[in-house]
Amino acid sequence: MKLTIIGSGPGGYETALKAAERGLEVTLISAGPLGGTCLNEGCIPTKALRRSAEVADLVADAAGYGIQATALGLDLAQIMARKEEIVTQLRGGIEFLLNKAKVSVLYGRASFVDSRTVRVSLNDGGETTVSSDAIFVATGSVSASLPIPGAELAVDSTAILSLQEIPRRLCVIGAGVIGLEFASIYRSFGSDVIVLEYCKEILPRFDTDLSKRLKQSLSKKGISIETSAAVQAIAKSPDGSLKVTYNKKDQPQEVEADKVLMAVGRRPALDSLNFADIGIETGRGVIVDENFQTNIPGIYAFGDIIGGYMLAHVATAQGLHALNHLTGQKDGIDFGIVPAAVFTSPEAATVGLSEDDCKERGIPVKCLKSNFRANGKALTMGETDGFIKVVVSEEDDKILGCHLFGPHASDLIHEMTALIARHTPLAEFRDIIHAHPTLSEALMA
Ligand code: NAD
Repeated sequence: MKLTIIGSGPGGYETALKAAERGLEVTLISAGPLGGTCLNEGCIPTKALRRSAEVADLVADAAGYGIQATALGLDLAQIMARKEEIVTQLRGGIEFLLNKAKVSVLYGRASFVDSRTVRVSLNDGGETTVSSDAIFVATGSVSASLPIPGAELAVDSTAILSLQEIPRRLCVIGAGVIGLEFASIYRSFGSDVIVLEYCKEILPRFDTDLSKRLKQSLSKKGISIETSAAVQAIAKSPDGSLKVTYNKKDQPQEVEADKVLMAVGRRPALDSLNFADIGIETGRGVIVDENFQTNIPGIYAFGDIIGGYMLAHVATAQGLHALNHLTGQKDGIDFGIVPAAVFTSPEAATVGLSEDDCKERGIPVKCLKSNFRANGKALTMGETDGFIKVVVSEEDDKILGCHLFGPHASDLIHEMTALIARHTPLAEFRDIIHAHPTLSEALMA
């Protein structure tokens, strides 16, 4: 069977590898470098910067650990070079794997000719057509902006990954995942950071308790956060600085900054392909059924291009499910149980239902709350700021959700993800021995 995959992010390239493993003849078409947004301008470069930010924090706090460090010196060029090296290394790894799996890679921009054929305008000139039995679309998303005067003066999440100097004052519009991750990074690099969020809480889609406490924790680190703030305009002052005006409780306010980051969400890249020309239905994103098949049989779409959870690991899982459907294989992936992590400092993570979700759905729950400051390992690490909330069904004791922030929250969440995915009652979890001293013990508190 011949399969064409358009887009080489974690949805496209991972699915290409699995399809090739199963004996399909795969062509992968990539307009940009292999790895998509995640590798080139998202998850990976951000985490590389975040690691440098953590090291900066540790050096600044060294005296508290009994270590006399010399004064903090940040070499942004070196930090950026390290980030680029990591990205290049991983990109090389994907290229190697695709080669080994005999996936044919075409670098260029695809467009539909009909429901089984795409034309590719190759990046190095020329054109080719590819015909196959099925087509998978995983062309991702683009940054959204606000329709406000001066929006073009702000940088997006791609541009802020490659700043030449650390802004003295950074204003972040949007306290979602991207906004808070960059707020944390640049605060650790020494910027004065203010975050303006339209909703009442930061991370509006997360459990409210978690959002409130994480806000306190980030504020303690010196990040100033204004919620219920509706940004109205960005303007350039004669001295080159930027002025952001916003309304809070109907009162006009303003803040000055050297850089403004626009982080108000992403939207499916609907102009990445000529969907309408062959009748593929779109709404906010490409419309698909439960198997990620579009209204045209044999054409599937997954990842950011369909909207919903815009997460790399979700795109990978959706691609696998689409492949399983195409090749007649069954799987047990539960797309309702998706762990998500926010790489702030400290990091936050969430999975399953929040207390608010349960209230909305009329599910009676009890919530168990604990703090990292009572955990021996966290204390020895000097990272006691953090909170865990486990949502448990009153009816049958099953664990329904877990919401936490603190050291290694992005790793800790997976134990709870496994338990929730296997519908485990709290009592059974409590029977599982956990090693001491570990952060995982905090989950049992
Ligand atoms: P988001 O949807 O997470 O957050 C956008 C924020 O902007 C929201 O809090 C929203 O209320 C706020 N906002 C909207 N309009 C505003 C206005 N006028 N003024 C002030 N605030 C306003 O979007 P994002 O942070 O841009 O991230 C985009 C996507 O990428 C998300 O789906 C996210 O999950 C994903 N992502 C994930 C990770 C990760 O998993 N660690 C990292 C980065 C991005």
